[in-house]
Amino acid sequence: MLESGQAPESGTATRSAWSWHPELPLPGSPVSVWPIKPFAFLKVLVGGWLPISEKLIIAALSILTWAWLSPALERCREFEFGWMAQIYVRNLLLLILVAGGLHLYLYTFRRQNSRFRYESRGFEHARRFTFNNQVHDNIFWSLASGVTMWTAYEIAGMWAYANGLMPFLSWNDNPAWFVAMFLLIPLFGANVHFYWIHRLLHWRPLYRTAHYLHHRNVATGPWSGLSMHPVEHLLYLSSCLIHVVVASHPVHFIFHLQTKVLQAPTSHSGFEKITAGDESDGGLKLGDFFHQLHHRYFECNYGGPEIPFDQWCGTYHDGTPEATKRVRERARFRGVDGSRTTRAESDTRSR
Ligand SMILES: [Zn+2]
Ligand SMILES: [Zn+2]
Repeated sequence: MLESGQAPESGTATRSAWSWHPELPLPGSPVSVWPIKPFAFLKVLVGGWLPISEKLIIAALSILTWAWLSPALERCREFEFGWMAQIYVRNLLLLILVAGGLHLYLYTFRRQNSRFRYESRGFEHARRFTFNNQVHDNIFWSLASGVTMWTAYEIAGMWAYANGLMPFLSWNDNPAWFVAMFLLIPLFGANVHFYWIHRLLHWRPLYRTAHYLHHRNVATGPWSGLSMHPVEHLLYLSSCLIHVVVASHPVHFIFHLQTKVLQAPTSHSGFEKITAGDESDGGLKLGDFFHQLHHRYFECNYGGPEIPFDQWCGTYHDGTPEATKRVRERARFRGVDGSRTTRAESDTRSR
């Protein structure tokens, strides 16, 4: 077992050593053992929420968004510029606040230096990026395409709720189910749906059309999370279409989109935790080493760490050198080069 802070690979180039990593191998999901034990499922359902977590903060933010920062539902019966612009500007400012704030804190002002940072390499100035600059490229795709697609889905949802086209769930209908929806939405959006859509995005034609753009980023930062091609944004956010068949309240719909959008900058921040900079400060969980491994080794960890589709489907990378070997062998067998660096270089050539 590797202790955190140790490089997982010895004898490879310095670029492949992590600056910091959690204890390895990664523990895997508690529901990976079949048949699933009810207690293990409960741990997945409630784990990651308490005592204070990103999910809890986003849930509070979505309630606040619905209560004070959204147009009244009656206004949304017709597509009108005023309420649609209100949602667009609010979403734009929210993403700038979260991704921009994290970038300034972690990378511009370096308030915690490299403490809990995964990669040792910095952001790149390379031809494969729009404007030849990784950060500018990431900001552009996140704002121009990401915010637009997020807003388009939200506008369509609000219009559908207002016109009775989406099944509506109020607090009084079923308070327990109303709360349970908050717990289930991230498991569906960031695990079940994400795994299969992400596998689809690695299908060569879709990869070359869309997903290559997100994978230009090997060392990721807050702006990399939502830096995607419009086709990928369309597919990535399509998990919210579940609300067409499952009864929900607009606050659930807003929460669903906000977890997908606002957890992208945090999970790609490149830091396991955000701290006040003090050595004794335990910090707030931020990054996702599980997905960081996907950016480096490519043919692995397509889903989220909670529902173990990767473990069930043989695409799991637990951070160890043995897993790297397995992933590379699998990639070679499928005729794909599993090395992220090589892939990034080949993307540069194919553009
Ligand atoms: Zn991918
Ligand atoms: Zn990513």
